Amino acid sequence: MSGQILEGISLRDATIQRLSARVKTLSAQPTLVVVQIGDRADSVAYIKAKKSFGEKIGARVIHEMLPEKVSSDAVVSCIKKHNTDHSVHGIIVQLPLPVHLDQHTILEAIDPKKDVDGLTSTHTQELWEDGSEIVLPATTRGILSLLDCYQIPVEGKKVVIVGRSVLVGKPTAMAFLNRNATVTICHRGTQNLSEETLRADILIVAIGKPHFITKDFVREGQVVIDVGINTLADGKLQEEVGKRKLVGDVDFENVSKIVSAISPVPGGVGAMTVASLFENLLDLTGE
Ligand code: NAD
Repeated sequence: MSGQILEGISLRDATIQRLSARVKTLSAQPTLVVVQIGDRADSVAYIKAKKSFGEKIGARVIHEMLPEKVSSDAVVSCIKKHNTDHSVHGIIVQLPLPVHLDQHTILEAIDPKKDVDGLTSTHTQELWEDGSEIVLPATTRGILSLLDCYQIPVEGKKVVIVGRSVLVGKPTAMAFLNRNATVTICHRGTQNLSEETLRADILIVAIGKPHFITKDFVREGQVVIDVGINTLADGKLQEEVGKRKLVGDVDFENVSKIVSAISPVPGGVGAMTVASLFENLLDLTGE
């Protein structure tokens, strides 16, 4: 028997209805600025998804496109221009950045009151301190919303997170800790990874390696959240999954036969990440 599929698409569609209704009650149109540097194909696709979601709920999305070789100063001044524009409620810089730019410097230029992805130090510190005014990074909020929607409890559970990035792994670990889960973070240096993953009640995987988590890493009764979004490059893998272009970090076909619930890719956390970004935007309007 296969595990329950944690559908992000249907939850995203419900979120669109809810946020559209909320937008109509606001005194000004919520406005998001997306800063794109360079023209990475994955960034183009993610920004397209944001614009489409914004359109559906009646939010305005301003797309700032800067060249790959732009200087750090030019990026910072672009961000600062929007920091002082009262019609803008949220600013996000599409990651990853070209290697010559320092991520910390760029993200810190965002006014924390407009930091819609919760990555400035003001928000990360609040997350560490368990503050109540937290803007959770969109992926983290999306994961929690998915679990909440399916009424999967977090408190007291053993949560194992594979991946410790600033964008996903670390904030997600802190958010689960704040919800009274017992959290283990695994990474490239973790020895005997399967020993750790088999301990989990909830296993969250964000490493960026297609089908890395096989049936040997899971057991019955677990909930598996696959954050990975990998574009297929390898012909063999392409054949294995038919026409789908995107796969997760989890071998969905085999793992889903063992665990009790699993989020698919596409259509799982990714769908909820965009929805959560706009939830954050509406929260930042302060209304
Ligand atoms: P990253 O490259 O910044 O971090 C990867 C992490 O995985 C690192 O901490 C590394 O230590 C760990 N890792 C790598 N190989 C490992 C291994 N063999 N064993 C254990 N740990 C290992 O990546 P990221 O930005 O966190 O993204 C991870 C994945 O999630 C990517 O596929 C990305 O596209 C996807 N992603 C999805 C969403 C979404 O909305 N669903 C959002 C952001 C990122």
